[in-house]
Amino acid sequence: MTTAITAADRIRGCLLGGHLGDALGADIEFIYSLDEIRAKHGPEGVTGLNASYHGVLAPCTDDTQMTLFTAEGLVRAARGGGDPVIEVYQAHLRWLDTQTMTYPPAGAVGLAAEQVLYARRAPGNACMSGLRSPGMGTLARPKNPDSKGCGTVMRSAPFGLCYGYDEAYRLAGECAAQTHGHPTAIRSTGLFAGIIADLMTGVPLREAVGRAVDAEGSGLGARETRDALAAAVKLADAASGKPRAEDVEAVGAGWIAEEALAIAVYCALACDGDVVAGLLAAVNHGGDSDSTGAIAGNLLGAAYGDQSLPADWVLELEALRVVNRIADDLIETFLR
Ligand SMILES: [Mg+2]
Repeated sequence: MTTAITAADRIRGCLLGGHLGDALGADIEFIYSLDEIRAKHGPEGVTGLNASYHGVLAPCTDDTQMTLFTAEGLVRAARGGGDPVIEVYQAHLRWLDTQTMTYPPAGAVGLAAEQVLYARRAPGNACMSGLRSPGMGTLARPKNPDSKGCGTVMRSAPFGLCYGYDEAYRLAGECAAQTHGHPTAIRSTGLFAGIIADLMTGVPLREAVGRAVDAEGSGLGARETRDALAAAVKLADAASGKPRAEDVEAVGAGWIAEEALAIAVYCALACDGDVVAGLLAAVNHGGDSDSTGAIAGNLLGAAYGDQSLPADWVLELEALRVVNRIADDLIETFLR
């Protein structure tokens, strides 16, 4: 007998799953081939948590850090009546401080007071430069207009946890424009948030992804994102419940937005509910392993809930307490 998955389970699952995928991929983000990963970690590649990332068993890197700050911005906007785009931007500026300071400043509150987040874990260049340049970007005049790195997709699951499809899509895109202005980055980010929003209402993963593939639009961003997602779905449909590393590498390397989303979608779909298999497939490739792991973890956790995640791994997460606190804040703010 299975227990119904609640919206609260999906919120917590999404955030914990993201942290888990991030942690599993952290050590191999910059190992650029599957052969080298296998040489270091064994014939199956990474098969679980290991302390190979600077001795940290389950590290919280920029992907999880930024996701947490996105969530904090949305909570503050909802509680204080502020503009979500401005609040998320200001939250990301607080994240930027964690990358340049070694400990929380006097009087810091919320995430800015959490020592565990003051760690520089290979933050993306566009995230740093976009936030450092003065003022806010807009969809018409975005920051870094040529950048379509995955750094905006990997931080954007919370929009879908807090809002319905249309609003999640819009807000995620406007917040993407603060760091990654390429239309494909903005489109991929919006669709990722939209898929998460659909999962929150119980739409099955395959159906939620299908809706994203079918989303209207003919511009460059729509075309590139749709093509990447359609390729991922086709391979996943043929995978018969077992994701394959060769398929992952055929979808892409994940450094750019639409490839990162497509790899995560492939792994989440192809594993057919075997969450551990999906997470491991999402990191064992020569590309941006921690980001694709984080995005796949967000999708799997939102689709199957926190109870689907391996408890012994979850308990080891470096920022477990902080992730749980932010999940509590989201649940209290958006589910009542
Ligand atoms: Mg990272």
